[in-house]
Amino acid sequence: MVLNPVISKLVGKLVVLASASPRRQDILRNAGLRFEVVPSWFKETLDKALFKAPYEYAVETAKQKALEVARRMPFKHLKTPDMVIGADTIVSVDGLILEKPTDKNDAYRMLSSLSGKEHSVFTGVAIVLCHEKDDEVDYQLIDFYEETKVKFADLSEDMLWEYINSGEPMDKAGGYGIQALGGMLVEYVHGDFLNVVGFPLNHFCKQLGVIYNNLPSSDQKSSSIVLSHHNQVTTTVIPQVLTGDPSVSPLASPAHKVKRKSDQKDMHETSQQMTNSLSKHGESQGSEYMALQNITSRGRSVSVSENTEPKKGDLQRIITLMDGFRSSKALFTASKMGVFDLLQKSPGLNASQVAAEIKASVKGTRCLLEACVSLGLVTTCEKSHQKPVYKNSTLAAQFLGSDSPFSLHGYIMHTDNAVWPLFSHLENAVREGTNQHEQAFGKKAQDLFQDSYYDSQALKLRFMSAMHSIAKVTGKAVATAFDLSAYKTACDLGGCTGAIAYELTKVNPQMSVIVFDLAPVVEMREKFQPQHMDTERVSFMAGDFFKDDLPKADLYVLARILHDWSDEKVDILLKKIADNCNPGCGILLSEIFLNEDRSAPSRGLLQALSMSPGRQRSAQEYCLLLERHGFTVKDFKYTDNLLDAMLCLKI
Ligand code: SAM
Repeated sequence: MVLNPVISKLVGKLVVLASASPRRQDILRNAGLRFEVVPSWFKETLDKALFKAPYEYAVETAKQKALEVARRMPFKHLKTPDMVIGADTIVSVDGLILEKPTDKNDAYRMLSSLSGKEHSVFTGVAIVLCHEKDDEVDYQLIDFYEETKVKFADLSEDMLWEYINSGEPMDKAGGYGIQALGGMLVEYVHGDFLNVVGFPLNHFCKQLGVIYNNLPSSDQKSSSIVLSHHNQVTTTVIPQVLTGDPSVSPLASPAHKVKRKSDQKDMHETSQQMTNSLSKHGESQGSEYMALQNITSRGRSVSVSENTEPKKGDLQRIITLMDGFRSSKALFTASKMGVFDLLQKSPGLNASQVAAEIKASVKGTRCLLEACVSLGLVTTCEKSHQKPVYKNSTLAAQFLGSDSPFSLHGYIMHTDNAVWPLFSHLENAVREGTNQHEQAFGKKAQDLFQDSYYDSQALKLRFMSAMHSIAKVTGKAVATAFDLSAYKTACDLGGCTGAIAYELTKVNPQMSVIVFDLAPVVEMREKFQPQHMDTERVSFMAGDFFKDDLPKADLYVLARILHDWSDEKVDILLKKIADNCNPGCGILLSEIFLNEDRSAPSRGLLQALSMSPGRQRSAQEYCLLLERHGFTVKDFKYTDNLLDAMLCLKI
């Protein structure tokens, strides 16, 4: 058996599977491999349109997952693994990539597209080998993929829904699990069955044989030519980056010498070096290193000739980007002029009636209404011989009225008044690297918050309404991201209107929360008090979290706080919290967590263009800051809402 001699070479080594899939774990465990499971934080959001073939997407995702864990392990676990295995399974049919269904309707859409047809299942696998040398780590990356063809029987509606209602499709690529009930849908399989389950064991063993026994690779399918053509692996030297000062962080061990003051900076340098180093390899070794360049191709210009037809959808993507500001401003203006509030109260008005109510020209109002129709915010119906009438779409009814259940009205007003002017000076901001407050508003910004609070009551209210609207929309996702039933007292630092605190007490009947915020904010709390709920377990305390003593609590909430501040300020705040905490106390951190490789469009990165003093960070970067103060990450979630969440414990 190919694997046995390889397995003996892995004894005593730290092998890590960067996947939470129980099926992958079973396959590898059954093969006798001993490994730890560290699920990757890499968000599976690579743009599929950028890949020529579906397997390239699977391989790239597998690489990103494995590399993310390989880079994170030394920080989080203080151990450099010997090998990290990443994998990603996708189903491809009719040129489309199917991943896990998001809900039952999505599962239905996927399964009905597979009915009666042959499709391909691709698993991309990445093996990252890490070698510690003095203060450095060598990373070696090998990747490959396996394709299996599967044919589904013709599926009746009843069969489809019975299968969907079994719940099995939900966490599986393509919406089926061949090893269980889904096996009944399959007419034939050509190729490796385990590949369809989630891991191509046979191909993996052959690759291990190549790595550890110097066996020649006969692998024609490997997308990483690194191994299959050369019988050698690519080596990238990356300086080891370590966690903080041992005097501050009880996590630091003598085995991991502390190198420097600013971990954050080094981490950026490290990933940059990794990028550069990998790119250099790519250039020196020619086309054989294409797979590596996929991750790190920033050093090369892309050449496109006039004869290259743009990919389907690419032109539309660019136009959507070019026109984005028009859409935003139409939304802001309709909100500001009260169009959505009016149509909520009086649906079915025509353009002249709307114009009269909002005190605007009929021509202008009609243009605005029609633009809103095209954006899906307003719907229209044209009765014969009558003028078209308008009403809110479901989207507008849900989010855009000032009293909508998930009203973003406050945030929209703030964005229009306080952010739009800054963005109209973006070129200057980029040239100078500074916030353009003075150019936009005619006076220097003193302090991000004090400015909003002391200028006028109206400004303060506008800022608080903006914070409140986002917190109300995202509060439930944050409050329910983790089991917090062990915490009896919480303190929401910079908790503003208390919106998240109220959500926390709703889902945690044992918990009481102190909202700690600056005095001018606390003064206005009553304006935002929820109507139909018991508010006794939420109290407010005025103070400055940089200067004043913090209330004692077993859970500290930091929602949208740390991104406003530099690393130095964050250190001051985290140290104060750490000094107040006993072992077992927690921090519930909620922010937009940047994608490690910045691959997907990110609200965080776009917000950073305001050039405020703070900085947007990835989950790993937050994790580093927290570990410096003796906190370890217990759990972490991309919520798919506006804010992500991380639960950390004091050790
Ligand atoms: N946590 C809230 C949320 O997610 O909706 C509000 C976030 S808002 C971006 C930042 C909050 O921190 C504001 O309410 C602000 O007043 C508060 N804040 C800023 N500096 C503060 C300080 N030095 N002490 C206490 N609170 C502060």
